[in-house]
Order: sequence, then C-alpha cells, then structure tokens
Amino acid sequence: MFVTVTSECIECGACEAICPQVFRMNSYGIAEAYSNPVPQDAEESTKVAAKSCPVAAIILE
Ligand code: SF4
Repeated sequence: MFVTVTSECIECGACEAICPQVFRMNSYGIAEAYSNPVPQDAEESTKVAAKSCPVAAIILE
C-alpha cells in the first residue's frame, strides 16, 4: 500500500499523532508520508490516519 498527502493538508498534525511510523510534519509545517510503501505493520494505523484527516488529504493506493 502506498500513501500520499495532498496539498489540501491544513497542518493539524493528526496523522503524525496517529501513525508517526509513516507521517511526519515537514519543515514547511505540512504533513508528508515518508515511508512508502507503508510497512505492513503500519497499514491499519495508516488507514485510521486517513479516515481521521479532517480534509481527506491522505490518499491510499
Ligand atoms: S491529518 Fe490531514 S490535515 Fe492533518 S496534518 Fe495529516 S494530512 Fe494534514
């Protein structure tokens, strides 16, 4: 599974809080997915993060 953060990110930090293994806030203050493909043991928390994003900026493929 691959994950992308779109430019819709509003910098809330939820995805990093839920799944720091995959998401981090970059130097511009927006989220990025730094672990692709998503490690198998992080797939569930990545899906939770995607569902928790208030602006649906996390795309799973
Ligand atoms: S949960 Fe969504 S809006 Fe919040 S930091 Fe992550 S990608 Fe950005």
